[in-house]
Amino acid sequence: MNADGQILFEIRDLCKSFGDISVLKNISTTISQGEVVVIVGPSGSGKSTFLRSLNLLEEPTAGQILFEGKDITDPKANINLYRQHIGMVFQHFNLFPHKTILQNMTLAPIQLLKRPKKEAEQEAMQLLDRVGLTEKANAYPSQLSGGQKQRIAIVRSLCMHPDVMLFDEPTSALDPEMVGEVLGVMSDLARDGMTMVIVTHEMGFAKEVGSRVLFMDDGIIKEESAPKEFFDNPKNPRLREFLSKVL
Ligand code: ADP
Ligand code: MG
Repeated sequence: MNADGQILFEIRDLCKSFGDISVLKNISTTISQGEVVVIVGPSGSGKSTFLRSLNLLEEPTAGQILFEGKDITDPKANINLYRQHIGMVFQHFNLFPHKTILQNMTLAPIQLLKRPKKEAEQEAMQLLDRVGLTEKANAYPSQLSGGQKQRIAIVRSLCMHPDVMLFDEPTSALDPEMVGEVLGVMSDLARDGMTMVIVTHEMGFAKEVGSRVLFMDDGIIKEESAPKEFFDNPKNPRLREFLSKVL
């Protein structure tokens, strides 16, 4: 899973505070096309805030985020248009409960991308087939297991043809036996070359699928390296301590 080198995100001295609490402290990094960046770190270290900042669900207090060379933190940037390029999957699935799976998947492409209904439905059906859920097209979210709902949340995002997919602990709310099916879909996506930024506690996944792992602690990226180096030769003392607890 090698990145092809073109920079997608450039994050420069990103800071985020909530009142007096400084949550992100001068985060700088780049994310290239095709990379699978896995973010790990203790609870409260700022992982979600960082991910949400990439989607401008949080407004940075200072610093810049460039996406495909454009400063999306510029007040003049078109945030809604930008967000159409970014898929996001949360711990909780956020499917519309009163819409069928097919409706959940086609709503945004029809309304935002103005895709013809037939075409949007055809593509949604292909994606459902890809994750083995064709027979759920007309079911409602409440009729699905957690793992199935999360697979739907992923393919629903893909219906918008995002340039990058952000995942915030996509398997943390699942029963253990369902974690594998969701990680499997994410591995397939990575293999197909999707750029992904993933917050997870699944260290096996980070090792196998990640092209780079970031350790976030106290609002700072304290270490970032290729998975082998990250897990076999951690340098930061806080990372060593963290790994000794989670591995
Ligand atoms: P993580 O995802 O690593 O567990 P978060 O990014 O959710 O960490 O949170 C980092 C810190 O920011 C925590 O101390 C949290 O309480 C605080 N925080 C997050 N969102 C808000 C908010 N909307 N208002 C105030 N504090 C927040
Ligand atoms: Mg979080």
